[in-house]
Amino acid sequence: MKLTLWTYEGPPHVGAMRVATGMTGLHYVLHAPQGDTYADLLFTMIERRNHRPPVTYTTFQARDLGADTANLFKDAARDAYARFKPQAMIVGASCTAELIQDDPGGLAGALDLPCPVIPLDLPSYQRKENFGADETFHQLCRALSKPMPRTDSITCNILGATALGFRHRDDVAEVTKLLGLMGITVNVAAPLGSTPADIVRMGQAHFNVLLYPETGEGAARCLEKTCGQPYTKVVPLGVGATRDFLHEVASLTGLSPKVDESALRLPWWSASVDSTYLTGKRVFLFGDATHVIAAARIAATEIGFEVVGMGCYNREFARPMRAAAKAYGLEALITDDYLEVEDAIAAAAPELILGTQQERHIGKRLGIPCAVISSPVHVQDFPARYSPQMGFEGANVIFDTWIHPLVMGLEEHLLTMFREDFEFHSDAGPSHHGGKADLREVPDEAPLASVAGGALPPGFAAPRDISEQMKPEATAPLLGEPVWLAAAERELKKIPFFVRGKAKRNTEGYAREKGVAEISVETLYEAKAHYAR
Ligand code: SF4
Repeated sequence: MKLTLWTYEGPPHVGAMRVATGMTGLHYVLHAPQGDTYADLLFTMIERRNHRPPVTYTTFQARDLGADTANLFKDAARDAYARFKPQAMIVGASCTAELIQDDPGGLAGALDLPCPVIPLDLPSYQRKENFGADETFHQLCRALSKPMPRTDSITCNILGATALGFRHRDDVAEVTKLLGLMGITVNVAAPLGSTPADIVRMGQAHFNVLLYPETGEGAARCLEKTCGQPYTKVVPLGVGATRDFLHEVASLTGLSPKVDESALRLPWWSASVDSTYLTGKRVFLFGDATHVIAAARIAATEIGFEVVGMGCYNREFARPMRAAAKAYGLEALITDDYLEVEDAIAAAAPELILGTQQERHIGKRLGIPCAVISSPVHVQDFPARYSPQMGFEGANVIFDTWIHPLVMGLEEHLLTMFREDFEFHSDAGPSHHGGKADLREVPDEAPLASVAGGALPPGFAAPRDISEQMKPEATAPLLGEPVWLAAAERELKKIPFFVRGKAKRNTEGYAREKGVAEISVETLYEAKAHYAR
């Protein structure tokens, strides 16, 4: 048992639903208790699809358990075929149905339906959603595709895009455009947008483009084995990765890499002088391994951030994740426990979090700006507008998305210089996030002072008295924890808010290390000098 409030991934049958819903002509008969139809909402509400997923649930109830649930399944499968006439069917069990062991594959096989029926064996208690999608797509390719003569012109399949995938719709369009420039047409893009008949003719393509290893690697390996098709290993996320991807495609096909960078703006946007303030910003990355590994490269080499933490929730990709983190001198955080992620973020005290919907909540709690780079995502990350993550347009989208939550350069200076201002104070947050704006009352005891014969302009507070005697904190500290003296605390507040957390933690660590019980202004500066060395 594990106490869980948030999960990064759903059960594996949700992964199978993502494959079935992305396709047409495929039907999924799912042995599941009443209530499991909640998963429909993921597709009709979050992804805003205009039709129900092609899933028939057996929806058994408590009273059915004493009777014949196997017959219930058989009836559902027979009815589903009669009603939807699919080209192929997948059958499987959800978590609860797995426990009653009715064997959907064997039962459906006995019905002898006039279409291919592919049984899914998805271990709900060991594996999760991405595995479910990968395994389902893999089983479809294994059952339906076969070696075929290659097309005359050079074609490829695009693998891994599914329903409910983060920006999958637009990534496929963007990558199709990139390949088109090189004279490569797409034979089949699957599962998203394909039919079982398309899966049958996948063997015609010269090679496969694996866009999402989490949901397409099993199929890519299967097609490599059965149809002799090589597949791409570079995921075109970011400018450098897109260029590498095009070179990889060139080496697979013998074509020359043709690139149209006329609409690529990220390199100049991040080189332009207004982006100078982004240099060295501390960023924490979390999500699925593919997006995090790609994001780290973009952050470090294309925008100039400092990657201070990275990790993923999908253990299947722990090895490449660890290797990638090592290149940044980091130890990868591999966990599906959001509380561990929250602790790691708090300890790293980044200025920006790039993560999933969960990290957005964590960012809110910790007061750290956040942008979303990976599933799981909510409805706002299925936008109406064209917003790929891959290719050159994807790089443009990424630049805007990541920079947006940060405080603008000039505003950052204002916040630092006028931290007593009623508008530009530390807690106000970026001005373009109206909801966060928190106008301060200018306190009576700090009236606008007059200087050099004239009043200060509105918004300027009187100079503060910083000569107050040092006095210990009123609240009782934890035993053995260093105490902040009042003057040191005031000095700490002069540090810009986005690095203050880090400075506070470093100073406390330094005090503990040196056995200093009370943190004075001197301790603060000693710690600063210590860490600067
Ligand atoms: S069968 Fe699985 S997915 Fe369905 S309600 Fe039970 S635990 Fe949730």
